[in-house]
Amino acid sequence: MSIKAQKGTKDILPNEIANWQNIEKVAYETFSKANFKEIRTPIFEDTNLFERGVGDTTDIVNKEMYTFIKSDRSITLRPENTAGVVRAYMEHGFHRESPPVKLWYKGPMFRYERPQAGRQRQFHQIGVEMFGVQDASADAECIMLATEFLKGLGLNDLVVEINSLGCNACRKEYKEQLKKAIAPFLEGLCEDCRSRYEKNPLRILDCKNETCNKLFEEYKLKDTVSGIKLCGECSDHYSKLKEYLNALNIKYEENTFLVRGLDYYTKTVFEIKSNNLGSQNAVCGGGRYDGLVETLGGPHTPAVGWAMGVERLNALIPKVDENKIDYFVVSDVQLEAVKLVSKLRNNGFSAEFDYNSRKFAKQLEKASKIANFALILGEDEIKNNYITVKNLSDSTQTKMKFEEIVKR
Ligand code: ATP
Ligand code: MG
Repeated sequence: MSIKAQKGTKDILPNEIANWQNIEKVAYETFSKANFKEIRTPIFEDTNLFERGVGDTTDIVNKEMYTFIKSDRSITLRPENTAGVVRAYMEHGFHRESPPVKLWYKGPMFRYERPQAGRQRQFHQIGVEMFGVQDASADAECIMLATEFLKGLGLNDLVVEINSLGCNACRKEYKEQLKKAIAPFLEGLCEDCRSRYEKNPLRILDCKNETCNKLFEEYKLKDTVSGIKLCGECSDHYSKLKEYLNALNIKYEENTFLVRGLDYYTKTVFEIKSNNLGSQNAVCGGGRYDGLVETLGGPHTPAVGWAMGVERLNALIPKVDENKIDYFVVSDVQLEAVKLVSKLRNNGFSAEFDYNSRKFAKQLEKASKIANFALILGEDEIKNNYITVKNLSDSTQTKMKFEEIVKR
């Protein structure tokens, strides 16, 4: 039996690649304008990095990691890139530079999940991380970067949801309130929620289990709890963020139940959703993680960032056509054809010829499929040192010298 790609993984084929390259190009251009620099970290890391960095009450760490042992070391394929970027940030002494440090990344991530539309086991993220700024201007900068990037891709019809999770002190009272409200139906909740109840009750609000969601409604959970009461500092920070977003004309909706799946968030959290993606509707998730650098052994460092799912972005973007090459050389004298192709390439054009030297009609047929112009090199052309240029979109033909073609 032939071997197939693994469940939850996909080949990205040549006829799809123009979209991917376009997304990466727009990312590079958008982030460079804001002086964010690209960083590429390894695809596998010490398992501890994710256990500590993503958090041991998360689905990612509890259920979704690809972990294996090699030479007695536990290694994990990265399920996300923030932990890796923070590790690199400390390892290379970025924390000693004057802030802010602004980084972006792109690449594959791995999570053992149930594959479905918009959910794969190997998927791709593009993300940004900004270190060293406590002020809400950094949160606004990151959200602006996300909306600019999406605009650059032609996506304007998306909803930005924001919330503030406050600091530990703000959350303490809310956690108690939540637990009290959940206690009457705790037994009916899924196993995950029951274990979150003690460890991280906030995350119960993020549960996607249908039975749980029905119980939340039946017991009017979202009406009985008030949302997090923010302390003075956190509340100022949140107000300032909204002021920045208003000033930047970025539309947002406040969602007091937005909690996000990762343990490390503090203060700001946000998500960008599309109404055209079905149930996997989040394209972007992010927030502030002021405690993460310290948790991973570095100095206290305020930080904020986000990640977008490239497959989900792609599902929203119209298909970009494959680029045609500039010239296809049509000739039955292969030595002349290959020489011309080489000269064209050296002058900055894309060019190909028929490796099998088939009949002219066949060569022209191929040319019209893959190139903008055919360059015909027949007996007469070679003898009199000119080239017949055929425009393949309107079939007009002109005779030219090589130098004229280069100048065009
Ligand atoms: P979800 O709630 O959809 O599982 P998440 O909270 O786990 O998302 P993050 O870890 O915040 O997602 O990742 C950011 C983005 O990466 C998501 O908004 C989504 O677009 C994308 N993403 C996450 N997991 C997958 C996956 N398994 N397949 C494809 N894209 C994904
Ligand atoms: Mg998830």
